[in-house]
Amino acid sequence: MTSADAAGTGIVTDRPRPVILICATGGTIAGSAAAVDDQHYRAGVFSVETLTGAVPGLGDRVDLRTEEFFALDSVDLTLADRVRLARHLQDVLDGDDAPDGIVVTHGTDSMEETAYVLHLLLDTEVPVVLTGAMRPADDPGADGPANLADAVAVAADAAARGLGTLVVFGGQVLGARDVTKRTAGRLDAFECLHGPLGHVLEGRLVVGARPARAFGPTSAFRLSDLPDPLPAVEILVSHPEMTPALVRAVARSGAAGLVHGGPGGGNVSRPVVAMLDEAHRDGLVVVRASRLGFGPTARNGDISDDEHDWVCAGDLPPVKARVLLALALTRTRDTAELQRLFDTH
Ligand code: GLU
Repeated sequence: MTSADAAGTGIVTDRPRPVILICATGGTIAGSAAAVDDQHYRAGVFSVETLTGAVPGLGDRVDLRTEEFFALDSVDLTLADRVRLARHLQDVLDGDDAPDGIVVTHGTDSMEETAYVLHLLLDTEVPVVLTGAMRPADDPGADGPANLADAVAVAADAAARGLGTLVVFGGQVLGARDVTKRTAGRLDAFECLHGPLGHVLEGRLVVGARPARAFGPTSAFRLSDLPDPLPAVEILVSHPEMTPALVRAVARSGAAGLVHGGPGGGNVSRPVVAMLDEAHRDGLVVVRASRLGFGPTARNGDISDDEHDWVCAGDLPPVKARVLLALALTRTRDTAELQRLFDTH
């Protein structure tokens, strides 16, 4: 329900001001350095109102709604939790009085997995933006307020419509499919293999690229079709001395799929080839990804995927290959069809 951007603000809505829902899920952005448990600070301590209150003028151009869906360290979020969040947001988007944009505050450790789940499953043109922080909310140099301000600006910006789910962090606007946390030690922790989709400049979104793969409205996956639980998929980061018992344990665990994170371009050492072949004979679908987490794996590159009947992850890192395989296995177990889904999503 949008109208032309007559005022040239970049904000387009039929309402006097766009309605932006901030859905909090926890993470360092709501974390406290002071609230230390036996190991480290605690994520997800502060309320969403505390987060919004730390950003001067956040509600000046938009009408903010807030909710707390989880208050968790994102390392504890399961794939089922992420699908639950997707179902909730889809209900919000399908409801009367749906918001014009959504911001999800989230821990950075698994933000890319939640972003990819939402990107694949949310059937909407409305901007959905994830953000977080590398420093806790009570750190003197907290980065959460600036990231939240940018995320709200992007969620309210007409130019963000139809870009799928986005991660806004450190002034960059990163596409959900490609975004990866690259470092745990810098404020600009996130990067995309093919570069960002855009930037936030003086509170406005500047778009430089669009998502190249299917997502949301054009994705092969529908929330209404998904079984609960999803097929189980494990990840193994491998090396030549890996014990075969590890792979056998996965095959016997009830898992439907295994993502192999191999060195370089997803390479597989000779002893591990035999282990994966055995696991495949035992019924596991095997996806070959790179343990670099940031680099392409070429189908039939250094090793023949055709010969071993493996799926090649392309440029998806192992954690995202796990997400896609779990969804894809709800549609098919056919290797060629799985490969087609990996090539297009
Ligand atoms: N491990 C925590 C989480 O992902 C903190 C990391 C962060 O948010 O930066 O929620």
